[in-house]
Amino acid sequence: MLSVEQALEKIFGYVDVLDAEQSPILDCLGQVLAEDVSSSINVPPLDNSAMDGYAVRARDTHSASPQSPRFLQVIDTVTAGSISKYVVKPGTAIRIMTGAPIPKGADSVIRLEDTDEAQRKGTLAEIGVLHEVKPGLDIRRAGEDITRGSLVLPKGIVIKPSQVGVLASLGRSTVTVIRRPVVAILATGNELTDIGQPLPGGKIYNSNSYSVAALVLRYGGIPKTLGIALDSKSSLVVGLRQGLDADMLITTGGVSVGAYDIVRDVLAKQGEIAFWRVRMKPGKPIAFGTVKGLGKTGAARNIPHLGLPGNPVSAMVTFELFARPAILKMLGREKLAKPVIEAVITEPIVNSDGRRIFARAIVDKRGEQYFARLTGPQGSGILTSMSLANGLVIVPEDKPRVEAGDTVQVMMLDWNEEWE
Ligand code: AMP
Ligand code: MG
Repeated sequence: MLSVEQALEKIFGYVDVLDAEQSPILDCLGQVLAEDVSSSINVPPLDNSAMDGYAVRARDTHSASPQSPRFLQVIDTVTAGSISKYVVKPGTAIRIMTGAPIPKGADSVIRLEDTDEAQRKGTLAEIGVLHEVKPGLDIRRAGEDITRGSLVLPKGIVIKPSQVGVLASLGRSTVTVIRRPVVAILATGNELTDIGQPLPGGKIYNSNSYSVAALVLRYGGIPKTLGIALDSKSSLVVGLRQGLDADMLITTGGVSVGAYDIVRDVLAKQGEIAFWRVRMKPGKPIAFGTVKGLGKTGAARNIPHLGLPGNPVSAMVTFELFARPAILKMLGREKLAKPVIEAVITEPIVNSDGRRIFARAIVDKRGEQYFARLTGPQGSGILTSMSLANGLVIVPEDKPRVEAGDTVQVMMLDWNEEWE
């Protein structure tokens, strides 16, 4: 039986960073930038006003005060988005709005509040300046955010919302990123009925396809659900064939030691099997291998295939441990591990058979200390235990028992990998 680390190491051996593609900037959130982005413009493009007020020559405000205002002739008004055709000459001012380009001749802006405008009515021919200003006051300089020619976003970053905004401020509509992996998902089991249908006797709804597809979305992949395959080799082969254009195949179910563990048999014929048992709980029966598929060029290529266990909790936990890092690796991400924190456990956990336990837990912080309590019954069919949990308490293989009050490690499912 492999350890979790050995299994993950093997999977990494079969998945590579995908190729880059040009993509609309809004689609790129969470993707890895695959080009150095430099600016061909200054942002802002021109010196502009940081305030509503008057564009003036600073020396024209010399010794101005509320008691003895300096009066200037108002020769124009300039609003954001337009350029004044006038020049501020000695003794004149141009009324200016926030964001409007600074007119020629002016070297500073005096705020409305520092003039007597409020005391005047109608269109003004003249304004009284109540304070002296220094050159450069309230001017945002051209290029103060981004200078033309500079490197703005380096290759390799994981794009976050502010960076989508920065790209837009450069006028970029598309950018080169590592593309998202398409992950084909096939549920197996004669007992399964798809959602939206009445539930016949003896059947259960297929939840795995949906929890797994939601995880694929969450971690940046593109899920392609292939529906349900029956517990027969032919049905499984038909199902898998629909996924041969994907970057990764995930099946759920059919990997345990029962009568219908056909995924193994089919994989052994269609591709290559890498491993079958991992020393963990939930999720011991898990398969990894490759299936021969068609590359973009039509060339044969091996598609990594993860055969997750059918139990809904096991499917999700093994996804988090194995499929999630594989997807992140394909996306070109470098931080692949979920944050692991230390918490005080509030109840005992028994580890009866030397596997690594991942127990669903609710973690909260009281003062400076994290506490973890279990979500209730830990059966691997109890999917609501997963929905309550924000973390997985890890009980090491060699630890037969954890006592209430012990410090344990918790993998924080709801925290993202970029966290330090
Ligand atoms: P298996 O690994 O195929 O033996 O499945 C184990 C158990 O998981 C089954 O008995 C079902 O109760 C459950 N199960 C399997 N597949 C699904 C699915 N797609 N959705 C919900 N439950 C499932
Ligand atoms: Mg089954």
